[in-house]
Amino acid sequence: METPVQFVKGIGPQIAQLLAAKGISTVEDLLYHLPFRYEDRLHPRRLHELQPGEMASVIAEVRGTALLRTRAMPIFEMTVGQGTQSLKCIWFHGAYLKDRFKHGQMLALYGKVEASRSGRGFKMIQPQFELLPTDHDDDEDRLLEVGRIVPVYESLGGSRLTSRWIRRMIFQVLRELRGNVPETIPAALRERLGLPARAEALHHVHFPPPGTPIPKLQASATPAHRRLIFEELFYLELGLELKRRRFRERAGISFETSDKVRNAIREVLPFHPTTAQKRALAEIVADMRQPSPMRRLLQGDVGSGKTIVAFQAMLVAMENGYQAAMMAPTEILATQHYLAAKKLLERSSRKYRIVLLTGSLDDDLKRLNRRRIAEGEADLVIGTHALIEEKAEFHKLGLIVVDEQHRFGVMQRFRLMRKPTDAEPDVLVMTATPIPRTLALSLYGDLDLSVLDELPPGRTPVVTRRVADERAEEVWKFIREQAAKGHQAYVVYPVIEGAKDDQPELDFAPPEQEEERPKKKKAKAPELFERPSLKAAVEMYEALRTGPLAGLRLGLLHGRLDSDEKEVVMRRFQRGETDVLIATTVIEVGVDVPNATVMVIEHAERFGLAQLHQLRGRVGRGAAKSYCILMTSGKVTSEAEERLAAMVRTQNGFELAELDLQLRGPGEFFGTRQAGLPDFRIANLLRDREALELAKQEASTFVRNSGEVATEEERSVIRQRLREAWQRRYGLIEAG
Ligand code: ADP
Ligand code: MG
Repeated sequence: METPVQFVKGIGPQIAQLLAAKGISTVEDLLYHLPFRYEDRLHPRRLHELQPGEMASVIAEVRGTALLRTRAMPIFEMTVGQGTQSLKCIWFHGAYLKDRFKHGQMLALYGKVEASRSGRGFKMIQPQFELLPTDHDDDEDRLLEVGRIVPVYESLGGSRLTSRWIRRMIFQVLRELRGNVPETIPAALRERLGLPARAEALHHVHFPPPGTPIPKLQASATPAHRRLIFEELFYLELGLELKRRRFRERAGISFETSDKVRNAIREVLPFHPTTAQKRALAEIVADMRQPSPMRRLLQGDVGSGKTIVAFQAMLVAMENGYQAAMMAPTEILATQHYLAAKKLLERSSRKYRIVLLTGSLDDDLKRLNRRRIAEGEADLVIGTHALIEEKAEFHKLGLIVVDEQHRFGVMQRFRLMRKPTDAEPDVLVMTATPIPRTLALSLYGDLDLSVLDELPPGRTPVVTRRVADERAEEVWKFIREQAAKGHQAYVVYPVIEGAKDDQPELDFAPPEQEEERPKKKKAKAPELFERPSLKAAVEMYEALRTGPLAGLRLGLLHGRLDSDEKEVVMRRFQRGETDVLIATTVIEVGVDVPNATVMVIEHAERFGLAQLHQLRGRVGRGAAKSYCILMTSGKVTSEAEERLAAMVRTQNGFELAELDLQLRGPGEFFGTRQAGLPDFRIANLLRDREALELAKQEASTFVRNSGEVATEEERSVIRQRLREAWQRRYGLIEAG
């Protein structure tokens, strides 16, 4: 299984290189390249059974071909038949097919069945096809291509490494292995879960035994598939579980929660915590009292009140004589936390020393603040991830809070946590991304989870409306009315990189960019040119200020302001000194101004669901009735339609997340780059959620009593495989 593919008969160094580019370097990799569909060539469909609209695979013989040269393009037409029945196939730009087919040749075709225009019979547009072997071809070809369920693979490169080529290679490799495939799941576990052996699973997944139901194969639901999916997820969870265990064994800090500490908290609390906040804090404090270090994820929808929970935990650390640090993904959020902390802690009889540390502070101040942190002259440090990047050295760090974790990505989280200090500080990670709970548990298997499932009292649902931008005048008028009542509003424009037209929605403006920009020399004009939507925010600020919103106090906020400017703009808005904040998505995460009651999102059709939900979360934070206005312009795709309708329909973050996950699929939903999630070879987080849950349970059981469920030999296989898998696939170190 570990043999480099280069040494497989028929591959050699050149092809091996092509395969390597596709992530296939060993025989094992090749075998884990699974078919993406199957064709039943044992019981092929009859042409007269076909239904318009279905995807079907058929076997038929070539009856006639023609190349039509239309004005628009060459079209290749072919008629195939079975007995008296026939089917028309059409390929646009099909000139290249002209000499490919011989009369009477057998073909396997796969495509969507459509009624033909004449109303009689069916056609397929651009079907996939394979020429079937004839009596002159060798036996192996015939064996693999006809009279069986045939696997169809995604090509591994060009016209050479086709599905057929892969089929032959895999067949050959399986034959040479002769079932000699080391087992990776302990026999006892496999038996209990009813999973086939690895050798059998690999064989059946490529060459299903006759009679395997095709729908089960297509859905990756055969026992063979389930076994391979479980295997992949089991190893991921095992890795996380071990990591978590080993971590728990490290020396942390046992914080005390005396009356003094409790009083310090009581003194500053500005309101009664919700039951959920109390429960979360109790869980956090229980962890903090333990001698092992805390790794806890606090999940709560936008506006559920995570910040105050974090502040309370930080007070516990500070009252124990330790420093606390809070990291935010944007300067704006860091600044806001800094201001909030100052305001909150002012109420205390003790004077806490609070320091702000962000990337774009001027160098002198940065140096000064760093020295204060290192010498213990700062009790509470709030900043962006410049905190880690610039290697802030702490005097006595007890607690790290990471706000809005989804922006950091797993890797960064690890980097932070591995910071060498004498006692391991506790870490609290907060996220508003309403990751469905089962997924959160499994993906962040190395974290414990607390959930805020309740909003503070007095909130009324945000009234959400869709408005076409022809009615913008009404929107501006509405903002004026709200301003007249003393309320404030946001107007948000999308941040889009590059050319306007081919931009995918950015779910989150990458934080690195937000943070890096101020460091660069300001060359406004060319930058504006590169980022047309930012120009839109700037332009609209001017247009609104001098036009429909003239007379109101407007602010402008975007990622390219330097941190002082951002702070000033934010502070003004927070104090109610501006009525309307024109912004880009920099305000998306965490910004908290309860007096703001209107969120206008222009080009709402361009935003992702998660992002819309986050933006809407900026309002409805106080007692006054709040509004979210989704303005759309131009053509709205059907998927965007669905997102907007969901926004109007519900305000439940989890519901929206589920839909988002379905609309976008897990890769996009989690944004591999942002979340640092592994690319799975076989598993699919959307489809395989139950398997994920199962894998997590089993991994945890296994780690607890591996002695009982696995032989020494099985355990050593697992250890070795884990080390490799963890290293190679997930790039995470120290599987041990
Ligand atoms: P998020 O979870 O989105 O970070 P915040 O911590 O910013 O939410 O809290 C949202 C708003 O709710 C803030 O204005 C905060 O002061 C307020 N808040 C939080 N907890 C309570 C509570 N128990 N009672 C009243 N208001 C609260
Ligand atoms: Mg927050």
